Amino acid sequence: MTMRQDCLALDAADPLAPLRREFALPEGVIYLDGNSLGARPVKSLERAQAVIAAEWGRDLITSWNTAGWFEMPRRLGNLLAPLVGAQENEVVVTDTTSINLFKALAAALYLQKNTPRKVIVTERSNFPTDIYMAEGLTSWLDRGYSLRLVDSVDELPAAIGEDCAVLMLTHVNYRTGYQHDMAAVTALAHARGAVTVWDLAHSAGAVPVDLHAAQADFAVGCTYKYLNGGPGSPAFIWVPCRHQEAFRHPLSGWWSHASPFDMAPAFAPCSGIGRALCGTQPVVSLALVECGLEIFSRTSMEAIRRKSLALTDLFIALLEQRCAHHPLGLVTPREHARRGSQVSVTHPHGYAVMQALIARGVIGDYREPQIMRFGFTPLYTSYADVWDAVEILRQILDDQAYDVNAQRSAVT
Ligand SMILES: *Cc1c(COP(=O)(O)O)cnc(C)c1O
Repeated sequence: MTMRQDCLALDAADPLAPLRREFALPEGVIYLDGNSLGARPVKSLERAQAVIAAEWGRDLITSWNTAGWFEMPRRLGNLLAPLVGAQENEVVVTDTTSINLFKALAAALYLQKNTPRKVIVTERSNFPTDIYMAEGLTSWLDRGYSLRLVDSVDELPAAIGEDCAVLMLTHVNYRTGYQHDMAAVTALAHARGAVTVWDLAHSAGAVPVDLHAAQADFAVGCTYKYLNGGPGSPAFIWVPCRHQEAFRHPLSGWWSHASPFDMAPAFAPCSGIGRALCGTQPVVSLALVECGLEIFSRTSMEAIRRKSLALTDLFIALLEQRCAHHPLGLVTPREHARRGSQVSVTHPHGYAVMQALIARGVIGDYREPQIMRFGFTPLYTSYADVWDAVEILRQILDDQAYDVNAQRSAVT
């Protein structure tokens, strides 16, 4: 039986515990939603003020050069690269995940343009924007491309046939927290002649990722989730050196031109990862990405993973010890290798229970159907937080202290 005392002892021995001070978390809140919007690094306020007052306010347009604004997508990409097993000059921080996915998918189809392969395989349970973007691209092209949605990993071998051009998967599922074996699935796709596009939205900063070891082809991901870049902060895209020469997509904006300030009417792509850029970036928001990345440089993804598994194991164990008499269903895999950094739990009144939790300072979120989602972010979540969150959940369930008619907000 685990007691709160035991959790406090785990916190006292936790090598990551000091990093919590790098985040500005409100008093009395247990934040278990870093998988959706990471908490604010303390330094991001000062950084935003410096960008706005000094770089923009005082130095005006010269800041494109003097403050490194123009180079920022590449510089931040290089800071992010080690977290996902990418090399120098293979990542840029730019645009949104949806848009980067569009570029990566278009480039992947381009690699297959001289083959009769016309099918993009993905999961029905993928994050909807990934499916929508693929559908948008293929239906707009109107060249016989189509999507094939599978319902489980077991269907992948049969689905990746001779007609499959691209396998597009999200590494860690947003709803269930299921984690694919990236290396094995990529090897399967390559053996069948397909190109792979991986979405790392719920992986970057959450679980160790080694894109090169897995021999992946393209990848995209978020910076506002586990990387703590701030609401709507620009996303990233990875194009390995071996694919950069052949990297072509239709969003050929001036930032991917070989010499943008020649202002030439003809497009000529630059070489290297700059090809993944499109146009002018939201500088204030982009600058804040660095504050989140800096914190990762003080630890390792291995240490983060160790604590993440300990936190999610603890949460599952406490749910089973203390809430066993309630109709909770574990959705997230128990197997460590298949688990991301979240725990998803169903309850017949999941939305109402989550609203009650939020009202009592335990912030998670809700995803259809019936799923309460709890994200665990080892940089700032403590073992005592896990204990307290389960205790508050137990009280709410025991007392039925939730409103089954709770009105849905626009964002759940
Ligand atoms: C969060 C998430 C996105 C978000 O895309 P945006 O373009 O930033 O809105 C996309 N895909 C997956 C798998 C996600 O988890």
